[in-house]
Amino acid sequence: MAHIVIMGAGIGGMPAAYEIKELLGDAHRVTVVNSTDYFQFVPSNPWLAVGWRQRDDITVEIAPYLTKKGIDFIAKAVTQIDAEANRLTLDGGDTLDYDYLVITTGPKLSFAEVPGAGPLNSGGGGFTHSVCSVEHAMEFFADYEHFLKNPGPIVIGAMPGASCFGPAYEFAFILDTDLRKRKLRHKVPMTYVTSEPYIGHLGLGGVGDSKSMMESEMRSRDMKWITNAKTTRVEEGKMFVTQLDDLGNVYKDHEVPFKLSMMLPAFKGVDAVAAVPNLCNPRGFVLIDEYQRSKAYKNIFSAGVCVAIPPVEVTPVATGTPKTGYMIESMVGAIAHNIVDELNGRTPSAKGTWNAICLADMGDTGAAFVALPQIPPRNVNWFKKGKWVHYAKIAFEKYFIRKIKTGNSEPVYEKYVLKFLGIHRVNK
Ligand SMILES: Cc1cc2nc3c(=O)[nH]c(=O)nc-3n(C[C@H](O)[C@H](O)[C@H](O)COP(=O)(O)OP(=O)(O)OC[C@H]3O[C@@H](n4cnc5c(N)ncnc54)[C@H](O)[C@@H]3O)c2cc1C
Repeated sequence: MAHIVIMGAGIGGMPAAYEIKELLGDAHRVTVVNSTDYFQFVPSNPWLAVGWRQRDDITVEIAPYLTKKGIDFIAKAVTQIDAEANRLTLDGGDTLDYDYLVITTGPKLSFAEVPGAGPLNSGGGGFTHSVCSVEHAMEFFADYEHFLKNPGPIVIGAMPGASCFGPAYEFAFILDTDLRKRKLRHKVPMTYVTSEPYIGHLGLGGVGDSKSMMESEMRSRDMKWITNAKTTRVEEGKMFVTQLDDLGNVYKDHEVPFKLSMMLPAFKGVDAVAAVPNLCNPRGFVLIDEYQRSKAYKNIFSAGVCVAIPPVEVTPVATGTPKTGYMIESMVGAIAHNIVDELNGRTPSAKGTWNAICLADMGDTGAAFVALPQIPPRNVNWFKKGKWVHYAKIAFEKYFIRKIKTGNSEPVYEKYVLKFLGIHRVNK
């Protein structure tokens, strides 16, 4: 009997556990290890940050659902991976041996790269917020409630080296909608500060007409923006930004005032993963082959934000390539098939499709993009706006949380909706 351990129970790890267990049945043991005892649906954090969701709406206690499917669960952080001995050390000192390890640990939020930025209790300087975790989103909401009594300028955006731009736009538009509903928008000048070379780049070199559509959306919502923005430090109420030109030379220095700010940080790999010899690139992302398998350790697979993928193009200020939920599930599907192949003496052959699909809510409307494949030139490259995306995003949230509770490894959404869009999950 082989023991498959999944490290990290997020958007990638939970579906990985269900899918692997379903394919392997009772012949093998599956264990999930996660640093918290709850799952959080990260894409809904922007709604939590403006009070449109409560914590309980978007978090799920993990143990009962995994147990129901015969999957073991340990709510502890992994502090060390001994990849030669196939052994994990957990917080508190216990150890856990594995035959196969699936790493789905998501990002380490690298606030420290910009002095003053990020929540204090996550290693940041305390002057900007994040919506990357439920805790961060709740902290934002607490400050937002005070802010509403005495509003002022808001700065939203993404730091140098960031890769996850969709949620930054999404949050700017959601805040704009919320402030308009409260009839306070006229008291809140909004600036979008981003390391992207142009609005709508998204870490993807743009998708379809994203540049002009997003610019138009920002203009019509009275938002200013600074692109090619190298944010160098943050102080209370002040963001210091060096704007570069397209050749990477200094174009202008800005001191942007704000009363409230949310800046998405650059990501790195989490410490326990980054520390394993030869496993990762210098930023701690797992180096994998086309079958999602570590290039250094044949019994380690990885999926999600924690894997290394190259930037789509070089930009004046560093940007990374986003890894979106559906792409992550496609990686997970490939891993499940490949572990089954391995256990049956076959050579792994499944590859994720790595298509970028994103639904970004804008509060009262939304924008969807499909980049297929992720690196241009593409077969499918569209960006569309409409109220239907706002509803599709709500449906996505309900669907995904239901999937976490039912343990259904490939329910209707993937099977029908994405097929309708012409998207297939695993290339076998
Ligand atoms: C604010 C925000 C909004 C987003 N919105 C969307 C969206 O609308 N659509 C979309 O497709 N994508 C979206 N994304 C991108 C992506 O889908 C998410 O980041 C997603 O959560 C990534 O999944 P993951 O499994 O890689 O990591 P996560 O979901 O972050 O899961 C990682 C898990 O690993 C655990 N972990 C970490 N370290 C350890 C350790 N040492 N030991 C044990 N466990 C550990 C964590 O506790 C966590 O549970 C968004 C990202 C952000 C930040």
